[in-house]
Amino acid sequence: MSQTSTPTTRDQWQRRADQLVFEGRAYINGAYQWAVDGETFPCVSPVDGRKLGQVASCHDADAEQAIIAARKAFEGGMWSRLAPAERKRVLLRFADLIEANGDELALLETLDMGKPIAHARTVDVPATARAIRWTAEAIDKVYGELATTPHDQIGMISREPVGVVAAIVPWNFPMIMAAWKIAPALATGNSAILKPSEKSPLTAIRLAALAEEAGIPPGVFNVLPGFGHTVGKALALHMDVDCLVFTGSTNVARQLMIYAGQSNMKRVWLEAGGKSPNIVFADAPDLKKAAAEAASAIAFNQGEVCTAGSRLLVEESIRSEFIGLVCDALKAWRPGHPLDPATTCGAIVDQAQLDRIIEYITIGQSEGARLVHGGQRVLEESGGLFVEPTVFDGVLNPMRIASEEIFGPVLSVIGFSTAEEAIAIANDSIYGLAAAVWTANLSTAHKVAKALRAGSVWINHYDGGDMTAPFGGFKQSGNGRDKSLHAFDKYTELKATWIALD
Ligand code: NAD
Repeated sequence: MSQTSTPTTRDQWQRRADQLVFEGRAYINGAYQWAVDGETFPCVSPVDGRKLGQVASCHDADAEQAIIAARKAFEGGMWSRLAPAERKRVLLRFADLIEANGDELALLETLDMGKPIAHARTVDVPATARAIRWTAEAIDKVYGELATTPHDQIGMISREPVGVVAAIVPWNFPMIMAAWKIAPALATGNSAILKPSEKSPLTAIRLAALAEEAGIPPGVFNVLPGFGHTVGKALALHMDVDCLVFTGSTNVARQLMIYAGQSNMKRVWLEAGGKSPNIVFADAPDLKKAAAEAASAIAFNQGEVCTAGSRLLVEESIRSEFIGLVCDALKAWRPGHPLDPATTCGAIVDQAQLDRIIEYITIGQSEGARLVHGGQRVLEESGGLFVEPTVFDGVLNPMRIASEEIFGPVLSVIGFSTAEEAIAIANDSIYGLAAAVWTANLSTAHKVAKALRAGSVWINHYDGGDMTAPFGGFKQSGNGRDKSLHAFDKYTELKATWIALD
């Protein structure tokens, strides 16, 4: 697939899809294999309801095998003791292979979880390769430290890999979320076990073959597809997993902390949910741009984004005008067939998630919010799972549609009159992942940005970010940070070594 040019029409993508061979096996100790007990589960596409194939449903015995292989590889040193520049070389090759196989990976992502092919190809694939490449390039440039010691002692501060890392990831950006974990885990010399979501296992399974082709030794990188309550739990409770890194819901994140406490106190790093406020003041420099970004903040990736701008706080004096602009902008986000390159809003990942979104739309109406845009399931005849981007006006922050994470394209508009009120509403949430402020007033921008309790704050735009800056949450949006050099903190232990000179 890597030799042919990228399709430009839905028919061409469909023909490629028809030729795809789906790998559904786990990848343990350098080889693909079915689950020990032979159990599988069907992988069904939300695009049209078609079954893509069977996937290994891993359990404790598979986790055991992967952990033994990962530990052996770690202790053997073929990766953990490799010079950082050598690990860099292999990981750069891994990134190159991801790019070379970009069409296939994008197609797998779209068929598996429903996102538009245009986004899978131009966002997910390049961002995955970039995460691995950026991290690889950094790894031989991170130095240890010397402590400010007395003249008769030397205190050396060095970083060492933690050992066996289990990474449990969600389905909304399956490859990117995996790359944010496995890139720094592998770059720092750990062995890694990736558990993709049961709703989107296909790209993770494919990445294993590319990692092998790149030269990552057997046991160093393993992939265990399966369910959270089976193989996910087995990894989280295991006494020989040193570090658990997670992206997913706040409820599961909480459970993982309990598992760590019940087992070996493994390090637990959590990227969890969000209910991010997008605050628009009347003096925003360009209301049309603000409205376009408010629309994409809730409709991109079908709203299945942890940083979705799901609470739109608008200064009362412009509220009705601004809502009109947002609803206009949302016309560009009508759901369509995910393999059509013109589609911007794809399918919802599965029936349970679609039901959840529809239920919240009903809840919003029963709470007294005013439905001003969308609200319907559409394209049902396609066999796929589609819902219109939806806007509620007249929302109060305590309402469930404003306080609970829906993880779908449902926007709650809340009015405010002063900056203090906007800050209070914005911070009145168990979450603290991201926030945005739109204003032409420099002092308002800084004051509000400083007061917001969120891991990322955007001023006069929404959802900026790059590998160069850390990403993560305050409060119940999690702990620790992905991306940037700060991510290495999760995957390394700091060691102080003292040398007496006399
Ligand atoms: P989820 O919490 O249901 O599942 C995430 C992963 O955890 C899956 O692989 C699942 O199988 C596994 N899991 C579930 N129960 C488990 C258990 N008991 N033990 C071990 N593993 C278990 O989340 P999801 O529905 O896949 O993803 C959506 C959530 O992810 C949203 O809350 C979203 O905000 C969050 N998310 C956060 C970020 C971030 O960076 N903060 C990014 C993307 C998604």
